[in-house]
Amino acid sequence: MSFKVRDKVVIITGGSSGIGLELVKLFLAEGAKVAWCGRNQEKLQSTFDALSAEYDANQMFIHHCDVLNKQQVADYVALVIEKFGAIDMLVNNAGQGKVADFFATEEQDWVDELKLKVFSVVNMVNATLPHLKQSDIASITNVNSLLGLKPETHMVATSVARAGLLNLSKNLANELVKENIRVNSILIGLVESGQWRRRFEERSDQSKNWQEWTAHVAAKKQIPLGRLGKPEEAAYALLFLASPLSSYTTGSVVDVSGGLSKEI
Ligand code: NDP
Repeated sequence: MSFKVRDKVVIITGGSSGIGLELVKLFLAEGAKVAWCGRNQEKLQSTFDALSAEYDANQMFIHHCDVLNKQQVADYVALVIEKFGAIDMLVNNAGQGKVADFFATEEQDWVDELKLKVFSVVNMVNATLPHLKQSDIASITNVNSLLGLKPETHMVATSVARAGLLNLSKNLANELVKENIRVNSILIGLVESGQWRRRFEERSDQSKNWQEWTAHVAAKKQIPLGRLGKPEEAAYALLFLASPLSSYTTGSVVDVSGGLSKEI
């Protein structure tokens, strides 16, 4: 079965690591033209070099871009158009979470979290919209977190910001349907990626290795599937939602949390 994205153009923000990088690989394997960004050019270059061994370099485009910087976003989108001539799909994935409860969350933390979760999408949507409008398969797919529905006190600002993104995604779906642009999201639970690698490096109990430590986290969180998700497991859902295979789906939210969301 084909995802019908051969020669179509996708932008994936935060493509240099974790979920974003797995999605880059899936789209390349499907024959799409893939542009990915992150803030760190060296990280991007090493992903590009590694993937060049397997895929045609003409299918790939990297350039550093902070999705919170409107000028960089405008420049980045212009470069993608220069390279590929069109944009069919946008996947808003860039970001990270903030671990802090209410009392440990400073005013600037609130501003930073809300800005990251909302403007990472607003800036990219504004810049790509004129091009998405010209595509016959246009889609926007947002990586979001189960925290948007199930807030956790130790990540208060992230939970609030994620709920905001959930609302924004629905709003965009309702508004952009008249332009034939579908907008969907995934809600992830705990996925093994750069964020969890960083937390592993900073762990208090250094006696546990990666497998033991993630198994402990999964048990503590009572994840029904008994483990953290793999980045590619989130990427599969994103590929489906971004591609024409989900052509009758907009405004939807796919749960990729290992059963963590137990409510209907
Ligand atoms: P990673 O840390 O592995 O990847 C994050 C990517 O985003 C990197 O490529 C990073 O590159 C990029 N990035 C971060 N900030 C910006 C920015 N301002 N502008 C452009 N690029 C940026 O983490 P994940 O794969 O886990 O994260 C993917 C998404 O999933 C994030 O939005 C995250 O919040 C969300 N998520 C992840 C969960 C998990 O358990 N892993 C749980 C809930 C949500 P660089 O640093 O070079 O900019």
